[in-house]
Amino acid sequence: MAKKSVYIAYTGGTIGMRPGKDGYRPAPGFLADRMAASPELRRPEMPRYEIHEYQPLLDSSNMTPGDWVKIGRDLYANYHDYDGFIVLHGTDTMAYSAAALSFMFDNLAKPVLFTGSQVPLAEIRSDARENLVNSLLIAAGYAIPEVCLFVGHLLLRGNRATKVSADRYLAFESPNHPPLGEAQVDLKIHRQRLLPRPSGTIGFTDVGRPQVIDIRLFPGITAELLRRLLAPPLQGVVLHTYGVGNAPDDPELLEALRQATADGVVVVNCTQCLHGSVQMDSYATGRALRRAGVISGYDMTPEAALTKLYVLLSKHSDAGEVRRLMGRNLRGELTHGRR
Ligand code: ASP
Repeated sequence: MAKKSVYIAYTGGTIGMRPGKDGYRPAPGFLADRMAASPELRRPEMPRYEIHEYQPLLDSSNMTPGDWVKIGRDLYANYHDYDGFIVLHGTDTMAYSAAALSFMFDNLAKPVLFTGSQVPLAEIRSDARENLVNSLLIAAGYAIPEVCLFVGHLLLRGNRATKVSADRYLAFESPNHPPLGEAQVDLKIHRQRLLPRPSGTIGFTDVGRPQVIDIRLFPGITAELLRRLLAPPLQGVVLHTYGVGNAPDDPELLEALRQATADGVVVVNCTQCLHGSVQMDSYATGRALRRAGVISGYDMTPEAALTKLYVLLSKHSDAGEVRRLMGRNLRGELTHGRR
């Protein structure tokens, strides 16, 4: 049987960095050389892989929606030639890029795995080796029709993942969805948790430049500040509210939100809590938000809500359609109802 082959898009991140005078920096060619010199990647049970190194290699803190488009177009152009795909990416904004790509692809039938590391591959105590070896085995060996993230032994749905630790190897969690797989003594993929295999052909949507922001409520936020943030040409907001989706029921603040939604801004309510779902009918303060035209983000991560807004606002000019689709489960990113 022919060896499976995996396409690796190397975008940057700690995994391939080298220490320099001013701290860790990506260095062209360095990661590919290191990988070529790794005996474990040449073992017969490993798939063939091809690395496409991006220029410039980025610390993922510098990524923009334009980079999601670059990665997505690259994978789309190579889609039919490989069995699976790995995106080597910095961990800082990996959850955003993984979520964005999950919404940009239609009918994805092959695995796309984002991975990286907290410590560069070149260092003795690096987590990169484990992440790379497991990602290659999963991308080549399992029919996973999803964009996923593999870091620190867990395979997570990309649009459910969030970075929760700056200094642990297990840097990501998927707080409202169980892992899709685990690399323990055995490599276990939970098939019943995967999205169904699509029947249509692969499609891809570019993201344009919709005006989208994140606003985190805090005690003391004023209507005046909110009005300034919500001013045109804004099109979409992820509003990080308290608990099950509550905000102060100060009439002026609510009026600022009502005015924005009446002007066509899509305001999505996501909780600041890591676990659980927005339930806007539980408290008077949540109901007031609903009356102001704010829609529920249910249990979406803020990363998923923000990138979904980017993609939907790039695809649809009608704010009503964007509002409707924001509340629908498109790629396994949200669960309706009380958990
Ligand atoms: N700053 C790095 C990045 O996101 C951190 C990492 O890769 O872990 O590119």
